[in-house]
Amino acid sequence: MIDSILGFNREFVEKRKKDDQCKEISGHARKEVMIFTCMDTRLVGLVEEAMGFRRGEVKVLKNAGNTIREGCDDVIRCVSLGALMMGIREVYVVGHKDCGMRKVSPQEIKQAMRERGIPQQAIDRIDVKKWAGIIEDEKENVVHVVNKLKNSEYIPKDIVVHGLLIDPYSGELEVVI
Ligand SMILES: [Zn+2]
Repeated sequence: MIDSILGFNREFVEKRKKDDQCKEISGHARKEVMIFTCMDTRLVGLVEEAMGFRRGEVKVLKNAGNTIREGCDDVIRCVSLGALMMGIREVYVVGHKDCGMRKVSPQEIKQAMRERGIPQQAIDRIDVKKWAGIIEDEKENVVHVVNKLKNSEYIPKDIVVHGLLIDPYSGELEVVI
């Protein structure tokens, strides 16, 4: 895979240079928007496009299930830094229908861990459901995440947080909160 990626990349960069697309642009989001969505393959390229955003206009955060787990502050950290240091004013939490983090069970994860050589004592140390961030319902999770962001002490109160749900096939957006 790495060889085909690097092979492709050489041509890609050549073409960008030829088309004069290598100009420096700001690392700050021109639309002052941050999106927090799921790492689902079907959403790659879809979420930004469905919302009408292009490269340079938004910041995009992703994880499995667009979740904020108990005791895990990495998403909070990114939203906080985006707001404090990078001019972000609005955050869109974008869950999606048919999320894998609703469909997977703790048992399946545990079994996969054992089969793939994860040490038993490491498995025993965690509550797999919480550790993996398994969700019961996509909309409920969006509401939960929006509230977590709104209630975080580290995120300025003037940041507007929206919760949406996207269809991973049509790209249709639905307002959740
Ligand atoms: Zn998902």
